[in-house]
Amino acid sequence: MPAADTAILRLAIPAPIHGYFDYLPPGGMAAADLPAGVRVEVPFGRGRRLGLLVETAADSEVPRARLRQALRVLDSAPLLPPDLLVLLRWGAEYYRQPPGEMFWSMLPAGLRQGAPAEALEQAIRTTPAGAASGPSALRRAPRQAALLARLQAAGPVPATQLEAPDRRAASALFARGLAERCELTDTASAAVWPAPGEGLPLTADQTAAVGAVRPDDGFNVHLLHGVTGSGKTEVYLRLMAERLQAGRQSLVLVPEIGLTPQLLARLRSRFGDAVCALHSGLTDTERLAAWRAARTGRAAVLVGTRSALFVPLARPGLIILDEEHDSSFRQQEGVRYSARDLAVVRARELGVPLVLGSATPSLESLRHAREGRYRLLEMPRRVGGGCEPTLSLVDLGHHRQQQGLSTPLLAAMRRHLDADGQVLLFLNRRGFAPALWCTDCGHIVECPRCDARMTVHLGDSRLRCHHCGHEKRLPDACPACGSAGLAPVGQGTERIEEALASLFPNHRAARIDRDTMRRRDSLERQLDAVRRGEVRILVGTQMLTKGHDFPGISLVGILDADQGLFSSDYRASERLAQTIVQVAGRCGRGERPGEVLIQTRFPGHPLMARLCEEGYAGFAAALLAERRGAGWPPYTRLALLRAEAPGRRAPVAFLEAARELARGFGVAGTEVLGPAPAGMERRAGRYRQQLLFLAPDHRPLQRLLGQLVSRLATLPDARRVRWILDVDPHDLI
Ligand SMILES: [Zn+2]
Ligand SMILES: [Zn+2]
Repeated sequence: MPAADTAILRLAIPAPIHGYFDYLPPGGMAAADLPAGVRVEVPFGRGRRLGLLVETAADSEVPRARLRQALRVLDSAPLLPPDLLVLLRWGAEYYRQPPGEMFWSMLPAGLRQGAPAEALEQAIRTTPAGAASGPSALRRAPRQAALLARLQAAGPVPATQLEAPDRRAASALFARGLAERCELTDTASAAVWPAPGEGLPLTADQTAAVGAVRPDDGFNVHLLHGVTGSGKTEVYLRLMAERLQAGRQSLVLVPEIGLTPQLLARLRSRFGDAVCALHSGLTDTERLAAWRAARTGRAAVLVGTRSALFVPLARPGLIILDEEHDSSFRQQEGVRYSARDLAVVRARELGVPLVLGSATPSLESLRHAREGRYRLLEMPRRVGGGCEPTLSLVDLGHHRQQQGLSTPLLAAMRRHLDADGQVLLFLNRRGFAPALWCTDCGHIVECPRCDARMTVHLGDSRLRCHHCGHEKRLPDACPACGSAGLAPVGQGTERIEEALASLFPNHRAARIDRDTMRRRDSLERQLDAVRRGEVRILVGTQMLTKGHDFPGISLVGILDADQGLFSSDYRASERLAQTIVQVAGRCGRGERPGEVLIQTRFPGHPLMARLCEEGYAGFAAALLAERRGAGWPPYTRLALLRAEAPGRRAPVAFLEAARELARGFGVAGTEVLGPAPAGMERRAGRYRQQLLFLAPDHRPLQRLLGQLVSRLATLPDARRVRWILDVDPHDLI
């Protein structure tokens, strides 16, 4: 029985529990001697698990007699620095995620399984006999004598630093018992970064932006609002080079599809081996190596997607988050968080500047900038003086269409192609047609598992549900009446590609979407063909919007702008405008001015008109005013409790009980709405309902959720549903 005054260990252990776990220190160890951030192995249930020490505490809510004793401590020094411990604890609390899962989900797999924090390398050192041996002992073996003297003077030497004759001498010293093999850890002192390469000349806007980010000011958030083509990347590169020369690391976060070979090549040509990339394509071993390179300071520039936010940094100097409006910074599965919002917390903990960049900043960030919490840096002009493309609307109610392409768009395509321009057509709908319709009885083929239509994929004769992945062979006859009169309705990218082949037989077209780009290198091959000018017309989905520059593209056609105008999700119009501006930004990068045609059935829609006349800034100002008036974010904080089950009753019953519980807490300022069916009530065979929590700011909302989460599991229907809490949800449907 340990003494009553022994402190306890508080651990984050991967388990779906909204709390930490208390243990007694392993035998012979005092809790006070253990630093937070080390891994500890503990008995857990009937097995064993690894946990991370988040703090030591004087006492536990668990009676001491029931506390179990930890088995062993894996690390002699903390695996995670204090800023990451603060960040992850803060994140678990804010997003109401099980802390153990939050901590564990961001560690490389090797570390989750107990691999050492440091990479070990083979080395040799003297034995005690070798250390005591005098110079006369090896008179007739000068190489061995020299090597022994080196080991005596310098300590262990990595095996990689030994020349071939030295390796032979080492074997002889092993045989004499004067030297032995050992393992060395790589250390931060080993890092020497190459000097950064020469940058491009800066415009006045770029110079001002670079000058405004002063690392000596410590923590600050800068919102860099630069139009497409204004040269944001060069600003980032300059800031990183400055930091590198001051001996500091930069962490750069990009959207999932923004980490292109083009960007990496640009970083490598500027910073050489000092660049380290973290992305989903890495093997577990590569991921661990990258994590170690960040932690030891061997890498000066870390670039990666959202999970790279959680790499430890030896000498942090700057965080950059590009395309800050992008929804892929939001982790939507498993542990939920926003890497953009957590980046603010981490930069504050580190005392370093954070730069959020975008041509289409989110309304949240624009509000912070307006109210002075973020510093706004504007770059309203393109590099080289090229002008931004003009946007104009094509009223689909007034013009004939061929396969979804209106007469004015077809005329513009011919004009640009004849003038040697390239054309980009954007349609965020892959497949041949979004529905299959029976011309005799009106039946539309729906997914048996979702409230959704099946998409026609003609190329491989399949019907696919884009929501649950269900698929089947394309039927020959109507499943309802047996008629053979089945017709695909509407356009997808596959159908547009087919139409282009007959409308523009002399111009090579290429399609870029998830169906044609299953492999990363096929995307690069197609993009190269576009850049070389072999492909004249490019049709594609969202995949086209980010990170790719096509200097030859002079015309962009947005085929269907109406998908986002009348959605039940309040964010849909913001996303629509961002997409239009980002796609439009792909054109007019070269010599010729760009032209953008937007096809819509609602040319009088005030937001669309505003976007065309005043650009994104004017549009965003109007939308902010609308959101403030309606009491939507960023002027309100939201959380969504979602529940789903194979039957309709349990989710409703669970959420009704949750609503009563929440109202019972009586937290002033909070409101609970629902439950209501999700935008698509049935998906993948499960019925989905949701409950919405609103508050004027995050404090009352956090008070409410804190009380609610611990009680949800005790509700009568809790075991009949799968529930998820989404704080600051990105989608409401
Ligand atoms: Zn039919
Ligand atoms: Zn489905």
